[in-house]
Amino acid sequence: MKKISIIIPVYNEEESLPFLFERLNNLMNQLENYEFEILFVNDGSKDNTLEIIKQQRQMDNRISYLDFSRNFGKEIAMIAGLDYVTGDAVIFMDADLQDPPELILDFVKYWEEGYDDVYAKRRSRKGETFLKKFTSKMYYKVLQKVAGMEIQKDTGDFRLLDRRCANALRKLRESQRCTKSMFSWIGYKKKEVLYDRDPRVAGKTKWNYKKLIDLAIDGITSFTTSPLRLATYISIPTFIMLGVYFIYVIAKCFVVNMPIQAFQAIILLILFFSGIQILLFGILGEYLGRIFVETKHRPLYLVNEYNGQKEENEEKIQ
Ligand code: UDP
Ligand code: MG
Repeated sequence: MKKISIIIPVYNEEESLPFLFERLNNLMNQLENYEFEILFVNDGSKDNTLEIIKQQRQMDNRISYLDFSRNFGKEIAMIAGLDYVTGDAVIFMDADLQDPPELILDFVKYWEEGYDDVYAKRRSRKGETFLKKFTSKMYYKVLQKVAGMEIQKDTGDFRLLDRRCANALRKLRESQRCTKSMFSWIGYKKKEVLYDRDPRVAGKTKWNYKKLIDLAIDGITSFTTSPLRLATYISIPTFIMLGVYFIYVIAKCFVVNMPIQAFQAIILLILFFSGIQILLFGILGEYLGRIFVETKHRPLYLVNEYNGQKEENEEKIQ
């Protein structure tokens, strides 16, 4: 019997959990040919979330939990979940039922057809403000440009991953995680499933704009070092201005026979030294960028198949 693991990060979700258990039970009854493991990653909840999960576990041993020492954020909860589950397929899901569990039926169907990464794509975003819709749209645009690779739009973390994708994700151990772009980075055979995103069933969203902006910056900086190159680019027009002004002043001095004035000398000096400084920043940035890329210790590539054998990415991670 194949085993499906569902990872659910939870942070102050006591109000959503009863609804969630019910919907999950229905789902598991519909998929009786599979073994299930539901791992709740309790991300430092301050309410009764953990107690409710523990109670449920006493009635249903398919439920397990991992309890963090504090709030680490959803991204870290997800990788921790991956480190602990053992299923042949792994599903990420939110606790607030914005990701309808019934969609997992489709996920599993496509997985059985041979897809490695089946993800849910939102058709609509009920119950979200215009501002949030707009910012998320712009963000995908920028991320896509900067990352230089296809990033699935309107896609959250709700998805099914084959075991080998889960193992591949476990190899990306950087601490500032942008899991969304990692799903693109690992590649493999992807399949999208369209759905309507519901409003959360109870409780409040755990995101605020500060968290969202942090996530957005992590997303961009974890993919490229191009912001660091900015200094190099800025130094170029500075030097051009220096050159042009220098020629102008010298020409005036010799052609019109007008002595160089103090303010002109000052402008020249300012342009010269600021140009050099920005250039040096740029050089520092380039080196910093290289160090940054190297210290991530990402694997350089991932193998899909070798002589007809699927690569399972099964190395132990220390
Ligand atoms: N979550 C978490 N840690 C956090 C914030 C959120 O584990 O610091 C969980 C939360 O319990 C939920 C999921 O991540 O299961 C998505 O959070 P939320 O619904 O608040 O985000 P939104 O749907 O508004 O993007
Ligand atoms: Mg939500």
